[in-house]
Amino acid sequence: PGAPSCPHGPALLFVKTSQGKEEGRRFYACSACRDRKDCNFFQWEDEKVSETRLAAREEYNRNHQPSFTHRQNVDRYKNFVLLPLSKRRFCQECQQLLLPAEWEKHSDHQFLCDITTAQLKSPSQLLYPLENKKTNAQYLFADRSCQFLLNLLIDLGFRRVLSVGTPRLHEMIQSKASQEEEFNVRSLLLDIDFRYSQFYTEDEFCHYNMFNHHFFGGETARETCRKFLYEENGERVIMVTDPPFGGLVEALASSFKKLMAMWRETEKEGQNKEMPMFWIFPYFFESRILDFFPSFSMMDYQVDYDNHALYKHGKTGRRQSPVRIFTNLTPSMIVLPEEEGYRFCTVCQRYVSSGNQHCEICNSCTSKDGRRWKHCVLCKKCVKPSWFHCNTCNCCTLEKHSCEKAEVGCFVCGKAGHKRSACPSLS
Ligand code: SAH
Ligand code: ZN
Ligand code: ZN
Ligand code: ZN
Ligand code: ZN
Repeated sequence: PGAPSCPHGPALLFVKTSQGKEEGRRFYACSACRDRKDCNFFQWEDEKVSETRLAAREEYNRNHQPSFTHRQNVDRYKNFVLLPLSKRRFCQECQQLLLPAEWEKHSDHQFLCDITTAQLKSPSQLLYPLENKKTNAQYLFADRSCQFLLNLLIDLGFRRVLSVGTPRLHEMIQSKASQEEEFNVRSLLLDIDFRYSQFYTEDEFCHYNMFNHHFFGGETARETCRKFLYEENGERVIMVTDPPFGGLVEALASSFKKLMAMWRETEKEGQNKEMPMFWIFPYFFESRILDFFPSFSMMDYQVDYDNHALYKHGKTGRRQSPVRIFTNLTPSMIVLPEEEGYRFCTVCQRYVSSGNQHCEICNSCTSKDGRRWKHCVLCKKCVKPSWFHCNTCNCCTLEKHSCEKAEVGCFVCGKAGHKRSACPSLS
């Protein structure tokens, strides 16, 4: 509370950890942008900010909002679909649907012509993914993974999906709902990518920042979300989220807890239940996620992406994806496709990947990355197949490593004494 705001909503409070005279000093910075180039908001916690600077900041924040409001974009869309095909243009430079009166202004921009209804129904194909920006890190699900997620949640009996940073899942649901009569699943997209407001109404999309739980549309948008979470006629809700992997787990967890609280407040009974959730994130964040959500478990399913060369399906010979589903649903209910090699382990009571062998000593299927892991009697646990036990370090690690302890904190767990590659939380 009381945090200053940048154009992305309330800033987060950080602390300087690098050695030097500022070490330990606290400051506010943008919640959404990890690249200073995208948003350079900075203020020391104890800094006195003059009235003039506050006024200038408010002015700046106002000027850095999108040029059209969501309402305006919805009206523009209504006009756009009335146009004959030959007049439907999309400016690739501005990433915007153009009305004929605006062609002139964009005359030296690249544009696409004859935008079909099918194209309007799959905006994630029309818009280019904002992958280079650290801020958005937009990696779109491969069709196989998207279809799997949707079938899974339908089989589990969910009829409403709160899609937080999952535009492609939202799009698949919306487009099926408009094409198939019996399809009765609904979705609400919450995303920071305002380009989507050109294609969805205020009941289908909220401009939202998942690092500070900020609804750019204010109380009205918040109310839309609240209404969506209210489970009428027994239509059960699940939240599915796929945040940028460079994002702070702590900030994400805090926002997700607020969304869960929103859901809980709409419930008349069962106050102590948790909103069902799929959090899609790399396996090496398992311990971080469990720190905040102890009821979650990690599924073995490998989530694949279209525009990420490394995160594609293992079977095609490419590297295996490190991205998994974390959920608070009972693991045994999450049925993974047997045709892709997943099998049910009756001891662990969950589906595991084909390479994941049940270790008799650990009494668990211990592999995290899909490869077969091996048990180390000295460490008393299973470790990656490429690791060896080092007697100097007194733990298993890569064969080639320097035995001196690392100075700086580990990137994964933050503790000193080891680097990311040797992080104990990875195993
Ligand atoms: N795999 C998903 C997309 C995940 S990419 C799919 O195919 O549907 C991450 C998504 O999070 C992007 O849509 C991006 O716009 C969104 N995002 C990034 N930062 C965000 C933030 N601070 N708040 C809300 N959404 C954010
Ligand atoms: Zn910002
Ligand atoms: Zn097992
Ligand atoms: Zn073991
Ligand atoms: Zn060992």
